[in-house]
Amino acid sequence: MKSVSHIKCPNCGEFNTDRDNCETCDALISHKKKEETRATKVKEKEMAIAIEQFEKLNLADRLRKHPFFLVKILGWALQSVWIVLNIIGGLIAWFVAMVAAG
Ligand SMILES: [Zn+2]
Repeated sequence: MKSVSHIKCPNCGEFNTDRDNCETCDALISHKKKEETRATKVKEKEMAIAIEQFEKLNLADRLRKHPFFLVKILGWALQSVWIVLNIIGGLIAWFVAMVAAG
């Protein structure tokens, strides 16, 4: 026996048999396709966040290339703060590892 999926179109109410899109209005009705579309959107969002963070990291670099010297100094200051934060983070990670090792 063959399994057939009957899906009611949420857009126009037409019943469709084994279709991804509605026969009448072409609305997306397949649950699988909907899931795939959602997954793609989540990936796109993650990419956007990653790019945003990458650009934040490069803020210091961009400021240092700025023609105005005060902004350049701010860029160097940001860079220094960033390095110090990384060192502190590394020390904390090392300390936690030492404590965990007992
Ligand atoms: Zn429809």
